[in-house]
Amino acid sequence: MTATPTTPATPTNPTALDAIRRIWGFDTLRPLQAEAINAALDRRDALVVLPTGGGKSLCYQVPPLVTDELTVVISPLIALMEDQVDGLRLTGYPAVALHSACTPAEQDDAYAALNTGSARLLFVSPERLLSDGFTDWLAELPNPSGPPGVRRFAIDEAHCISAWGHDFRPEYRQLATLRDRFPDACIHAFTATATERVREDITSQLGMRDPAILVGTFDRPNLIYRVVPRVDRDTQIAEVIARHTDGATIVYCISRKDTEAVADMLRDENINARPYHAGLTPERRRKVQEDFSREKLDVVVATVAFGMGIDRSNVRCVLHAALPKSIEAYQQETGRAGRDGLEAECVLLYSSADAIRWSRLFTMSAEESGSPPEVLQAQLDLLEGIQRLASGMTCRHKALSEHFDQPYPLPDCNACDVCLGENAAAPDATVIAQKIISCVARAIQHSGFGFGASHIVDVLRGSRTAKILDRGHDQLSTYNLLRDIPKPTITSYINQLIDQDLLTRDPGKFATLALSPASRDVLTGARQVTLLQPKHPVERAPVAEEVTLSTDELDLFDSLRTLRRQLAEERGVPPYIIFSDDTLRELAAVRPASESTMATVKGVGTQKLEAFSDAFITHIAAWCAEHDLATDARPGTRQARRERASTPRTISPKKRKSFELFDRGESVEAVAVTQGLQPRTITTHLAEWIASRKPESIAPWIDQPTYDRVAAAAGQVGTDFLKPVFEHLEGSISYEQIHIVVAHLRTQA
Ligand code: ADP
Ligand code: ZN
Repeated sequence: MTATPTTPATPTNPTALDAIRRIWGFDTLRPLQAEAINAALDRRDALVVLPTGGGKSLCYQVPPLVTDELTVVISPLIALMEDQVDGLRLTGYPAVALHSACTPAEQDDAYAALNTGSARLLFVSPERLLSDGFTDWLAELPNPSGPPGVRRFAIDEAHCISAWGHDFRPEYRQLATLRDRFPDACIHAFTATATERVREDITSQLGMRDPAILVGTFDRPNLIYRVVPRVDRDTQIAEVIARHTDGATIVYCISRKDTEAVADMLRDENINARPYHAGLTPERRRKVQEDFSREKLDVVVATVAFGMGIDRSNVRCVLHAALPKSIEAYQQETGRAGRDGLEAECVLLYSSADAIRWSRLFTMSAEESGSPPEVLQAQLDLLEGIQRLASGMTCRHKALSEHFDQPYPLPDCNACDVCLGENAAAPDATVIAQKIISCVARAIQHSGFGFGASHIVDVLRGSRTAKILDRGHDQLSTYNLLRDIPKPTITSYINQLIDQDLLTRDPGKFATLALSPASRDVLTGARQVTLLQPKHPVERAPVAEEVTLSTDELDLFDSLRTLRRQLAEERGVPPYIIFSDDTLRELAAVRPASESTMATVKGVGTQKLEAFSDAFITHIAAWCAEHDLATDARPGTRQARRERASTPRTISPKKRKSFELFDRGESVEAVAVTQGLQPRTITTHLAEWIASRKPESIAPWIDQPTYDRVAAAAGQVGTDFLKPVFEHLEGSISYEQIHIVVAHLRTQA
């Protein structure tokens, strides 16, 4: 099985492109979206591996519109299905969902839409799909474009089928029966995390036939990764969150207890934070998820249980208070940041003690569940991978890419702690290491057994704890040797020494420290040691292609977010499905005063324009009047792209000059004089300019009565040719003027 290399988006089916423009307001496709859509249209099985935020949903949403038939989407989480269906309905897309949380009325509506063949997407949970008789019923469904039944399945979060993955779900295993049950259907699997082994598992479990394997680039250039030694957890967490008061942050912890403690601590700091974990009641969990996705809550402190159902696209920061359990989990959890493509920060507070905690948890749960030893071993291997990444000093973008077997092309990502040079080496690291190591050795020698890190730190700092006095450790020669270094920093140094195999820690309950074979080299001075001190983040140049906003525009952006939240609340949907932050930023820069300008903004499709243009245009006009800011400041990126596309590359310099003058609203006569050309020639330039720029009005060149008369005549004889219009008007209006009006009428068609 070979991976198809990443290629730039290629043109796909025209109906598909048209639907993407009209419904979603996107003019270009992201990498591999075209290939994935084409595979579905060719009825070829496919495995699509794209990073979170890569745009997987579009790949299964578009094909049913082109072929006019149903696609069944299998998705593991109800909250996610509900949001997607709400979001699609806002764009006018016929989508339904069937799951255990549907009301009877919703269920009836869904069945009605399916039985009449009007739905194009059906979201179901795997349990529902495999429940009694459901597939029999699916096999009989009317299908407007062919024989009854379902001819396309899309399986979201497909890695859940593999025990080698990090999120195995036994109910996914049974999807293996789909191939037999629907031999003529094509199967499309989607996932954000898949190593070669998981990929092979997915395609073989699902019985895929000659699948297209589409593997995207895993790197997320808009994410800034920072791995910081954990020295003082609470202070560090509060500092990071303070950098992101304008957006949402998810904090991940290992245990429920930690989430509660961190959330309490943040609330003491006046930050509205809520814990989220599997031990809460379902109502409580639903409330947190809902408040978060509806932007009423900006900080959630969660165990890994939080996330898959959360689709808020403007999460600006993901903070790991402790080591995640694998690189895959890290990739997926950090992947929730910056799904809108705008810059976001991912901070991992690392201590090697976390790895011990995880391995104990894995071992305990393996004992409880009686799972085979291979599963435990796979977990421990994955854990070692993330530990290596976190303790290593390789560019984080590079390390992540390479973990997913992708070479990273840049020598310096400009977006991670390593490349930004944020890791300050502690001065005298070798001497500090020698003091720590000899303290461990002396304590063992003195008492005849080992001690944990916390006791060693106390000895080094010269504390007078009962344990120290009882054991006589105040008599050790290493007592009080590091009194000037704060306790958390020494703890972090000990963890770093363990990562470098210069000390060992017993994995047992007491986590006692001992010397490793390499410790001696440090003590004799044969080996130099590097230790890192946590340092503050460095300012950096932006990584993402964002519209840069002025201070005023940023204020407008904030007020547009408030407007969006109100509109969302009225409709009972999460804000991001109205418009993404990306679209709001562009709206703040463009400040449309009319629907036609608003339509040039990325993410504004026909249906959303109709639904929201009034609210946004009115709000922007009022805001701009109050703040003395121009509206219609510039065209949106869709317009700019359209201009680039429709302006022929070989356009003559003369014509280009005319275009510039028309952009400023100059008259045909004036342009003719400037350019030294005949007005008739300049008229053809104007007609071409109108065709490419599609201005809303051509008032500078044609008066309204003339425009109306030509439009009326064209209404009778059509706009294909100028002569019939000229004749219909019996020569009362010049050819030139007719040419200009007709050019404009054609853009309105
Ligand atoms: P995934 O499921 O891969 O995590 P989504 O399908 O949720 O990603 O898409 C992430 C975001 O990217 C969404 O806000 C979506 O609207 C946007 N998006 C998807 N395709 C495009 C595109 N071709 N152009 C611009 N934005 C896109
Ligand atoms: Zn880097």
